[in-house]
Amino acid sequence: MSECISTPPLSPLPACEDREWARRAIGILEGDGRRSADTHLVKPVFKGLRGISIYLKDESTHPTGSLKHRLARSLFLYGICNGKIAQGTTLVEASSGSTAVSEAYFAHLLDLPFIAVMPHSTSPQKVEAIERFGGKCHFVDRPSEVYTVAERVAAETSGHYLDQFTYAERATDWRGNNNIADSIFEQMKSEEHPEPEWVVMNAGTGGTSATIGRFIRYRNLRTRLCVVDVEHSAFYASYMSGDRDITCPTPSRIEGVGRPRVEPSFIPGVIDHMIKIPDAASIAAMHVLSDRLFRRVGGSTGTNFFGTCWIAANMMKEGKKGSLVSLICDSGDRYAATYYNPDWLAKNEIDITPYRDMLETFIDHGEFKRFEAGIIGSAAAL
Ligand SMILES: *Cc1c(COP(=O)(O)O)cnc(C)c1O
Repeated sequence: MSECISTPPLSPLPACEDREWARRAIGILEGDGRRSADTHLVKPVFKGLRGISIYLKDESTHPTGSLKHRLARSLFLYGICNGKIAQGTTLVEASSGSTAVSEAYFAHLLDLPFIAVMPHSTSPQKVEAIERFGGKCHFVDRPSEVYTVAERVAAETSGHYLDQFTYAERATDWRGNNNIADSIFEQMKSEEHPEPEWVVMNAGTGGTSATIGRFIRYRNLRTRLCVVDVEHSAFYASYMSGDRDITCPTPSRIEGVGRPRVEPSFIPGVIDHMIKIPDAASIAAMHVLSDRLFRRVGGSTGTNFFGTCWIAANMMKEGKKGSLVSLICDSGDRYAATYYNPDWLAKNEIDITPYRDMLETFIDHGEFKRFEAGIIGSAAAL
């Protein structure tokens, strides 16, 4: 026996009280999930689309009104399970809206301070929703400043920067565990064409398309993923060129989607095709779909619906049958003063009439020819 080793006296092990907080926190987050059933996969009737069925996963019915409810829960779980969020941690996010609303809700559930860093242009309804959950809003002048200011605020408060644009793709367990892709393919199981030809999704963080694209590969499905980009956004040009440093100086007009830079959570390698569409097409599609669903959907849902119809038109042209899946990202109630307001449309010089006519003749009569002129770009052959 070496005499150098001295046995320390038995001493009590640490109680690890902070772990107890984390255990309670995880329990609360699980409870939020358990209280809601899964979101619906709706199948509207479009009688012109012979042999092609469109399904829409309705993410507007989450307790905080958008698909960002899933993301916020995942970011909180990720932060707690990585030891970054503990009792009393101030949470900070760079967000112009939906993500901050959902995060403010979860911060309230866990009794944690929350600060959203956002541009002055953020809609008053969203600011109000964040404050109602007890969150604070920190305004910046230029949208591009939100990232650095959020980092600074987190450092100053010894808090945790949730950083949706970096962590969206990795906070979600893409292999399954009831993520959005898992849920969609489960709900499709008894349909005529259970394996969709395409899933169509827009991109904000890029996290949802990353989860769907990875899941499709992991489950060895034939389904392909098409990402639809909007007018003022860096994603499409970056997808075409492979250059991740591309930026777009003009802010996107479609809330929730289109970014000034290529966000770290945007994963081009799992995307099979991208198209870029005019904002007028997104907003026209939003109006058309709202009419058919008897309730208002948001602008980014219009982007999804237009892209889905564009793919359906291509399939019809080639005589193909099958199913297509996309998402209802949020409700249109948030946009009464903008996309649903004729004065706002006129002020922004957005004429939705031609796109509206084009979509209506397509979904009612299967007339697809006019789609050929409807988009700004299409990358890689269908
Ligand atoms: C965030 C968001 C999207 C895009 O989802 P990502 O997973 O971030 O790419 C679409 N629509 C709305 C309304 C959003 O808030």
